[in-house]
Amino acid sequence: MTAGYLDLAFQVISGAATADTLVALACVLSDLDHDTPAVRELLERPTADLTPEDLHRLADALTAPYRSWRTAIDLVTHDMHATGATGEVTLAVPDWDPDGVRLQVDDHFSHDRVPFGGDVPTYVADAVQEAVMEASFTVWPLCPDHDLGLHAENGAWACRRGHVVARIGHLGTPSD
Ligand SMILES: [Zn+2]
Repeated sequence: MTAGYLDLAFQVISGAATADTLVALACVLSDLDHDTPAVRELLERPTADLTPEDLHRLADALTAPYRSWRTAIDLVTHDMHATGATGEVTLAVPDWDPDGVRLQVDDHFSHDRVPFGGDVPTYVADAVQEAVMEASFTVWPLCPDHDLGLHAENGAWACRRGHVVARIGHLGTPSD
C-alpha cells in the first residue's frame, strides 16, 4: 500500500522530507482533485531545479491542510474539556476508505472525509459534536443561557435562539 496524505504530510512536518516525498505528496493531492499552484509546480518542474527555499515554500503549502486540521482539533478539544465532554480526537484513515482522512473520536469515525479547505474549524466541531452525542446519548454542547443544543456555524457555536455563544475553541470562557 502506498503512503497517503496523512503519512506523507506528517513526514514533511517532522522534517524527514526529501524532494521525492514532496513530489509523492503532490501526486496524492492531485489524485484527490486538490490541485493547487504548489501541487502543479511540484508535478511540472524538474526536481533538480528546486532550491532549498522552493522546497521549504512548497512543503509549507502542501502541509497547510494538515496543519489546519491539527489547529481545529486543538480548538474543539479545548471546548470538550471546558464543558466536561470526554473522548480523544485524532486524524485517522479507516481500512474501508484508505484514500480518505477522517476524524476519529475514540472508536467513532466522522461520516465525511476531512476537507482540504474551507471552514475547517466548523467542520471539525460539527463532526466531533456528532461523535460525542452518539457516544454519550446526550446533547453536547449546550447553551449556558437556554440549555439548548448548540450548532457549529462560521467558526462559532451558535444557539438556536439566534445568538452566538463563543468562537470555536472558546467555550466555557467568559465572552466579552
Ligand atoms: Zn442560547
